Amino acid sequence: MAAPTSTPVPAGPFRTGRPWTNWARTVSATPARTAAPRDEAELAQVVTAAAGDGLRVRAVGAGHSFTPAAATDGLMLNLDAVSGLLRLDRGPSDATLVTVGAGTRLHDLNALLAARGLAMRNLGDIDRQSVAGAISTGTHGTGARLGGLATQVRGLRVVGPDGTVRETVAGDDLFEASRLGLGATGILSAVTLEVVPAYDLRAQEEPWPLERVLEGLDDLVDGNDHFEFYWFPLTRRALTLRNTRLPRDEAAPDDPSMNAALRRVRSAARSARSAARATARVATRARSWVDEEALSNGAFGLVNRVATAYPQTTPRLNDFSARALSARTYTAPSYEVFCSHRRVRFREMEYAVPRAALRDVLAELDAWLLASGENVPFPVEVRFAAPDDVWLSTAHGRDTAYVAVHQYWRLPFGRYFSAAEQILAAAGGRPHWGKLHTRTASELAPLYPRFADFQRVRAEADPDGVFRNAYTDRVLGAGAG
Ligand SMILES: Cc1cc2nc3c(=O)[nH]c(=O)nc-3n(C[C@H](O)[C@H](O)[C@H](O)COP(=O)(O)OP(=O)(O)OC[C@H]3O[C@@H](n4cnc5c(N)ncnc54)[C@H](O)[C@@H]3O)c2cc1C
Repeated sequence: MAAPTSTPVPAGPFRTGRPWTNWARTVSATPARTAAPRDEAELAQVVTAAAGDGLRVRAVGAGHSFTPAAATDGLMLNLDAVSGLLRLDRGPSDATLVTVGAGTRLHDLNALLAARGLAMRNLGDIDRQSVAGAISTGTHGTGARLGGLATQVRGLRVVGPDGTVRETVAGDDLFEASRLGLGATGILSAVTLEVVPAYDLRAQEEPWPLERVLEGLDDLVDGNDHFEFYWFPLTRRALTLRNTRLPRDEAAPDDPSMNAALRRVRSAARSARSAARATARVATRARSWVDEEALSNGAFGLVNRVATAYPQTTPRLNDFSARALSARTYTAPSYEVFCSHRRVRFREMEYAVPRAALRDVLAELDAWLLASGENVPFPVEVRFAAPDDVWLSTAHGRDTAYVAVHQYWRLPFGRYFSAAEQILAAAGGRPHWGKLHTRTASELAPLYPRFADFQRVRAEADPDGVFRNAYTDRVLGAGAG
């Protein structure tokens, strides 16, 4: 480990003594101290100093968690400067491993991978988060054969409460606990990810009757690389999203026997293909702007404002929104299809349920919505994931369906989320660590076979509880420290 520097560390964008607020405006905190270390050595230095002064320490990424996962009244760390590409390696079985600073934002990661002909195997639906923040709460996308972002992690550098930096890889207990650990085992300074060759996605978006989606569910989920749907509450309508992975053409191998004419033909074909792709990309961007800004964000924002002012119109507005969506098919680089901009602010709760329970859960939610008359102008999002072995992953050990309920930020969400939580929890659901829920450690422990292992590693890594906050006390227990 490099020796800690003695130069002053910038205080960071949060102002000491002034409240910090998350994206959803569900959480605020007033840290006693803030810091924006410029590298790992400075990070180690400020952590050690804070621990010595009896302060608790939390890192904040993009503040996109709905839960108070990053909140602290101690030292709040901003790792925006601990970012960017650190290393590009070949791993076992020729896998490509990319090491980045933990504060790297996903959109910057996607750009630096694309510049090298690489991409993330799977992504969620926005790219504003930091790499460390995203993996620490179990951020995921959709795909029945794929896991969340933490399953793509192969190595970590973890700063402990005494400033010691531990390099840890798959199979180490500290790695298993820290790749999805809410920052409770230490502050991540670098993350190594296994990435794949760049690929395009062919996206098919079609409004379907909900019944058609539910009847064909298994074929849709298993027969597509990435399948998800949005169900419009108080209607029987859904928007289906099917993405198919299309490998990019490899550059022609350097074949000495290939004659010059053939090489020229291949090179011309490659140029034509890349020109076509560039044109398609411009078209995609123009269309994306219309779809995302004008339709998804602009019109959707208006729908939500009307629903807030005139709640009795919501069922008709939802029906209108679902009908207004037209089918479209387009192809674009994977990260452009996976990620979109969300400018309409909302609150969200998401539970991972066993895939087999999905139909019953949606039926119960539908019945509650109809009976309660709740004003819900935001669709319910349903996604899928493969079983994985990450200790605190919401998809640990089982085929998973994710059910996410949203509410416009100006509307009350308490009654709706509470009813949804009862239904989802009764189905054996596990709440997303970064999204609203009320579960406690004693309720969560039986849902995670490796929960006790996590606690053991956490207690070893942070014996005095420097990395605790009120949220980790609630969901992981106040055991450490
Ligand atoms: C509009 C929107 C869309 C979303 N879409 C999705 C989605 O598609 N799929 C999904 O699964 N989730 C989604 N989320 C949830 C989001 O991905 C997670 O809450 C994620 O944790 C946010 O990342 P962040 O960088 O903002 O982290 P923060 O919220 O700032 O922090 C999250 C946790 O990570 C810890 N942390 C941050 N940096 C470090 C570090 N260097 N070392 C140790 N711990 C650290 C924090 O202390 C905290 O516990 C969405 C959220 C929003 C607001």
